[in-house]
Amino acid sequence: MRPVDRVLGDIYSSTEPLDLVVDLCDEYDSRWPGSGLDKASCEYMAEKLRGYGVENVHLEKFTIPGWIRGSSSLSVTEPKSKEIDCIALPMSSEGVVEAELVYLGAGPIEVYEKRRDEIKGKIVMVNSGNPRGMTRYLHRSEKYQRSVLAGAAGWIFMNHYPAYGPPTGGISPIVPAVGVSYEDGMYLARMLERKGRVKLRLETRCKNLDVDTYNVIADLRGTAGSDEWLVYGAHYEGHDIAVGALDDATGASVVMELARTLVKEREHLKHNLRFMLFGAEEIGLFGSRAYCEAHPEFMKKVRFMMNFDAAGRAGRQGFCLHGWPSLEPLFKEVIDEIGVELPLWSRVGPYSDHWPFLLLGVATATMGDPDEAAKRAGRGFGHTKYDTVDKADLRVMRECAGNAAVAAFKILNMDKWPYPQRSQTEIDEIVEKAGIHETVRLGVKLKEYLEEKRDSLRPETLVYLDRMSGSWEEVI
Ligand SMILES: [Zn+2]
Repeated sequence: MRPVDRVLGDIYSSTEPLDLVVDLCDEYDSRWPGSGLDKASCEYMAEKLRGYGVENVHLEKFTIPGWIRGSSSLSVTEPKSKEIDCIALPMSSEGVVEAELVYLGAGPIEVYEKRRDEIKGKIVMVNSGNPRGMTRYLHRSEKYQRSVLAGAAGWIFMNHYPAYGPPTGGISPIVPAVGVSYEDGMYLARMLERKGRVKLRLETRCKNLDVDTYNVIADLRGTAGSDEWLVYGAHYEGHDIAVGALDDATGASVVMELARTLVKEREHLKHNLRFMLFGAEEIGLFGSRAYCEAHPEFMKKVRFMMNFDAAGRAGRQGFCLHGWPSLEPLFKEVIDEIGVELPLWSRVGPYSDHWPFLLLGVATATMGDPDEAAKRAGRGFGHTKYDTVDKADLRVMRECAGNAAVAAFKILNMDKWPYPQRSQTEIDEIVEKAGIHETVRLGVKLKEYLEEKRDSLRPETLVYLDRMSGSWEEVI
């Protein structure tokens, strides 16, 4: 039997990934940075990895601008009184805003300038849908930043799918911001339509403070004695309102499953594989950024990085290359070897842990199914309190790990890696082509806007401003 077949047999007969998801979620809650359970969950994962027999297992500490949730409230004060369920969005600043509501629907790019006079000083509500006609994904943080630049005093992020509750998601600490459900958002929008004017009181109580958190690293050294690496990585923490089972305990568990099974066939792997479990992805890719910053020499030796974000999601486990047409033939071979029809496509997006690697020229990819994603209600349960263990699907995790194992054998056993890393010019081009430059320019504008108001800014906004470098790493 071929070594890869032994690994596949092992993966397809094991319940380990689901057991890990249960432990991570039920024992360590959301593993939120600075909660204390982030470190405990890292120690748990490190212990497991040591037990599997991989080497160099250790935690790497880094410090981030963290955020701890307090209470928050949203109420209609005029034309009637009514409490609305809401949750503060991570990194939201603390404060009370009493102002009229403006609803911008899905918040298309042109609306913020066009309705600037109306927006100034108001509480802006935007839903989570992608505006019609937009080819790129308009991320929450961009809608928030564009609202702030137009003068919004408060911000409401409304779920555009029914029955998923209020959505969460990181923003920048400039004005108080909350999430509300589709149903409550529709109620507010309807009232605005019927009465012409709705006044709200929005209060957020949260703490923005520096916290230490951790990445977990482990190695599998191949037989060639080379210094060339494949990286399999995933963030292990979830949003604080849930346990982050799908996003991303499943991804972390799949990476650990690959460590468990591949290490047994170490003597049949030539080059090296580093497993990375990142902290603090959700509020700004801090774990992967910290790792890339701390290990610039290592980055030059990475052949390829695969990021597993929400690896337990329904659908086929195909490969999404981030703008590497030269790698397509190799992944076609991988798919042929897997022997089932799998999607192989290309798309560049900045919103997960592959991004800092991509910006250093490393070839990166993620796994999933674009057809299934098109059918899904947005993020599905992701970023809501319903992202719980019962949603994790062992069958999907097995498929994800199995397909990634086949890819690992292929990548690690090629004597020569004929795909050089991207040059800075090529990186610039790919970012430009993906439309991400617009987001970058927005960050620069925001920095200028805040500089002008420096004297009136809240302390957490000042800290944020002084950290802003206006670079691509911060588009999230
Ligand atoms: Zn994620």
